[in-house]
Amino acid sequence: MLTSNHINPAQLLGQTDVHLHYVSERVAIHKEMKAAFELLVNAAKADAIELKIASGFRSFDRQLMLWNNKFLGKTSIKNSAGHVISLAHLSPLELAHSILLYSALPGASRHHWGCDIDVYAPNLLAKDYQLQLEPWEYSEQGPLAKLSAWLGQYAHQFGFYFPYARFQGGVAEEPWHLSYLPLAQQYQQAFDVELLVEALNNSAILGKHIIIENIDDLAKRYINNVCDAPTNVILPK
Ligand SMILES: [Zn+2]
Repeated sequence: MLTSNHINPAQLLGQTDVHLHYVSERVAIHKEMKAAFELLVNAAKADAIELKIASGFRSFDRQLMLWNNKFLGKTSIKNSAGHVISLAHLSPLELAHSILLYSALPGASRHHWGCDIDVYAPNLLAKDYQLQLEPWEYSEQGPLAKLSAWLGQYAHQFGFYFPYARFQGGVAEEPWHLSYLPLAQQYQQAFDVELLVEALNNSAILGKHIIIENIDDLAKRYINNVCDAPTNVILPK
């Protein structure tokens, strides 16, 4: 069994980095996931796949910046087909829904936990290839098809699964987003909408009023609406 993990509000909300191990200068993961992640990387390597993290831990403030940039139209917002959508004629609530397809509310991103990572394999990509993190790249026709097939076959053996394996009316399909079940299930259980509202209230999030007014619906559709872990996920002893 893992040592009991004391999840506090700051960890849930991305407001601390005490639970993290830095894989590189810019990429951090949960300390208690380090061993399992290394086993996963080594197993992939044995099959000629260089498994790398595109995005690991993300702080509340970073997620807030991503959110506000999209809300302002500074960063483009894509639909699930990868097309940039027009923000003209969108109400603030419609705009929030459009952002939530791919970007979580600050305070509600699974990347705050450190046990959720976006992965890719640079050795399967052309040298100057710019990763977009779009589903087609991970599909059978995409450059990362081999990675997807490998993860589909083996990730569960190391305790990992895909919480966004399928579109269920909330967050888009994200074939790059892996979650480490032993930790993720604890964070998921500890999620508290009142805590989130308090953090959002104290933040400079754009669309604050409309988000808080609709928070129960948004939480139901985007935060709690994740795919269940398959029953074959193996938990480390
Ligand atoms: Zn992700």
